[in-house]
Amino acid sequence: MTDVVVIGGGGSGLRAALAAAEGGASVDLFEKTEDAGGKTKLSIGIMTASQSSFQRRAGIDDTHERHLDDIRSLVHEAGKQIADESMVRFILEQSAEEVEQLAALGVRFSGPHPEGAHKTPRMHVIQPDCRELARVLIAACEDAGVRIHTSSPGRGLVFEDGRISGAVVATPSGERTVPARAVVLTAGDYSGDPAFIRSVAPDAPLAQVFRSFASGDGHRMAMRAGAATLNMASINTPHLRFRDWPFVEPSPKVFAAGAILMNASGERVATTTDSESAGLIGYDGTSDLYMVIDAATAPKLASAADDDGIGRNGWRRTGKPFIGTAPGVGFAYLADCARWTWSSENATPAAVVQRTGAPSDAVERTLAGTTGPYTVLGPLGCYLMNTGGGLAVNRTMNVLATSGEPIPGLYSGGTNARIIPYIGHGYALAWAMASGRIAGHSAALQA
Ligand SMILES: Cc1cc2nc3c(=O)[nH]c(=O)nc-3n(C[C@H](O)[C@H](O)[C@H](O)COP(=O)(O)OP(=O)(O)OC[C@H]3O[C@@H](n4cnc5c(N)ncnc54)[C@H](O)[C@@H]3O)c2cc1C
Repeated sequence: MTDVVVIGGGGSGLRAALAAAEGGASVDLFEKTEDAGGKTKLSIGIMTASQSSFQRRAGIDDTHERHLDDIRSLVHEAGKQIADESMVRFILEQSAEEVEQLAALGVRFSGPHPEGAHKTPRMHVIQPDCRELARVLIAACEDAGVRIHTSSPGRGLVFEDGRISGAVVATPSGERTVPARAVVLTAGDYSGDPAFIRSVAPDAPLAQVFRSFASGDGHRMAMRAGAATLNMASINTPHLRFRDWPFVEPSPKVFAAGAILMNASGERVATTTDSESAGLIGYDGTSDLYMVIDAATAPKLASAADDDGIGRNGWRRTGKPFIGTAPGVGFAYLADCARWTWSSENATPAAVVQRTGAPSDAVERTLAGTTGPYTVLGPLGCYLMNTGGGLAVNRTMNVLATSGEPIPGLYSGGTNARIIPYIGHGYALAWAMASGRIAGHSAALQA
């Protein structure tokens, strides 16, 4: 018998496994895909935190209370409400603790950078990107004796005598039951399973799947064992993103400044520009999209000359649009995009045709009235990046049954558990890591 089984080897699962092993438990982690890391290793790496040692070293005086004040304003501006302030305070404390613990493990951060709506710089960004976070966590898990089994999806939970006593997993050598004193579910969200989404949110908008491994397996396993869920109909709005690394989400302000969004037929696709993410009008959800920036629009976008040197955020002062947040960069300039495979600079109209594969007459019509040279960025798609529902948990990350009672032996973290209420950018990753740590710690105590 192992002490703790972790199902799902993204950031939250690796963090849970490490915390459980540090708590003295023997740990087996089962990951569905060939490599651990999940969506965590694809993420930008922004962790929003207050009272951090990074802030203190930069001479920034900050408190969780002031942070909470800023969140109140942010949430109010978004037309939403904070359902549970004490929970938000708990998340802020745990996120700050997590930044320190990850730094102690060897994770490097840049910042704290200023971030538009916050009155104090709080944006801590993992360097050079979150693939390094996954690498550090995997190495720390291995050092702590965690057995990581890849290509080994969890299939179900063993529930007997009123408690969880193991998990069924499908390893490359066959399906088996692994007896355990506690199981931690960290299998991520369900944005990759349109049929499951339909079953919990029939009116959800159609969107392209970003990663099919996010198929709600952990949700379903726990639901079969009698777990309660929360907010399952909360499906986030699909967003425009570049399809390939580093999956930058373009700022709607870029389109307001004149950037053209073009589909594979060479037609212009209209965007909404009134929120933080660009929505698409009349898009069929399947065609590849391209962003074309002409010579008149390029100078309207933020460039190095606009940078005030403090964390590359001077643009916020000039008000000029940036392309989007990106790992290792912060807010990417147009010039930054040249480092990624999806950027072609100095393009002629003929090169736009070649790059997009669109018919030349349609491209000509769409580019009428603009002048080159052009920068072509893409392909982009409209992806559902994550979902908002999760298992009901208490603050030890013990999963709750529909009766409201904790299910003995079952814990959860990350997007498998109830996602945090909307409080702005940069909290999902920090909470995935912190909730994984808490879940692993609690599971080790149980064992
Ligand atoms: C492009 C992108 C950028 C982002 N940028 C930021 C950011 O800057 N700041 C921020 O706060 N948040 C960001 N996020 C969100 C954040 O990364 C996620 O909320 C967080 O990483 C989720 O961690 P997780 O461990 O819950 O899920 P994941 O990291 O997705 O891990 C889940 C793991 O479970 C595995 N799994 C699934 N089913 C099974 C099964 N049956 N058995 C075993 N394993 C299974 C999956 O393969 C996966 O490895 C971003 C997300 C994306 C996609």
